[in-house]
Amino acid sequence: MLKSLQGKTAIVTGGSRGIGRGIARRFGEAGLNVLVVSRSAADADRVAAEIGPHAEGFAADVSRPEDCDAMAAAAVARFGGIDVLCANAGIFPAAKLGEMTAADFDHVMATNLRSLFLSVSAVLPAMTEAGGGRIVLTSSITGPVTGYPGWSHYGASKAGQLGFMRTAAIELAPRRITVNAVLPGNIMTEGLDGIGGDYITKMEASIPMRRLGGVEDIANAALFFASEEAAYITGQSLVVDGGQILPESLGALEAMG
Ligand code: NAP
Repeated sequence: MLKSLQGKTAIVTGGSRGIGRGIARRFGEAGLNVLVVSRSAADADRVAAEIGPHAEGFAADVSRPEDCDAMAAAAVARFGGIDVLCANAGIFPAAKLGEMTAADFDHVMATNLRSLFLSVSAVLPAMTEAGGGRIVLTSSITGPVTGYPGWSHYGASKAGQLGFMRTAAIELAPRRITVNAVLPGNIMTEGLDGIGGDYITKMEASIPMRRLGGVEDIANAALFFASEEAAYITGQSLVVDGGQILPESLGALEAMG
């Protein structure tokens, strides 16, 4: 049982759908105030309404510095401070090498990696003033651990997040701000809606637990990193993937029977 986070404030970027929505709802259940952030104000507001009166939606594009500053200012104005940043917003369009344009690459980097620097920079003054804080980022197994055709830019952005994290964790440790990452495997979200049943069936077959993860699996890991109990953990990553990265070959899975 974790110590109560009642009354603390979290910003969850990409909180309007999928994993971010799962994190926002879990944090809301745990008693935190939640600023739910996405580019769509209507979607962010809808999730905030699901959570209840201690949640609010906010429209921001996290690849833009002015939006990140406005997001942090909104959390301080509404809830009086910022204790937790879940830097979760991300995109995963597929493009293979030879087809991928420089603009495709830049767009993924701006949304997934530049946004991390911008959102962390935006919350720093409030966390410093509060005497501490928690930054939890949503990376991926794709990039830091594995690869997948079409996702070279995505994988680079997700591995880059961990590079950023390690130095940020050192720099922010004296301020009692921790920076940690959750690395989801394949999680059933709206983001996978267009990807096709074939991808999902094949993916299930390659996961020792034989199922895709749920958003609550990632939300629980994020809540742990946000907790008082995780105060001495920083610069670390936690893979949450049902064992997906473990088999060394297809044979290892077939040998399970
Ligand atoms: P999703 O269902 O597509 O949701 C993405 C969220 O990010 C939405 O709320 C979206 O809202 C928001 N968003 C996108 N671009 C944004 C921007 N520029 N500024 C602000 N918000 C933005 O995605 P998901 O599957 O939950 O993925 C969430 C995170 O988990 C991503 O970082 C992804 O890389 C990571 N992840 C997912 C999986 C998986 O299996 N699903 C696996 C590994 C890692 P708007 O479109 O309204 O802005």
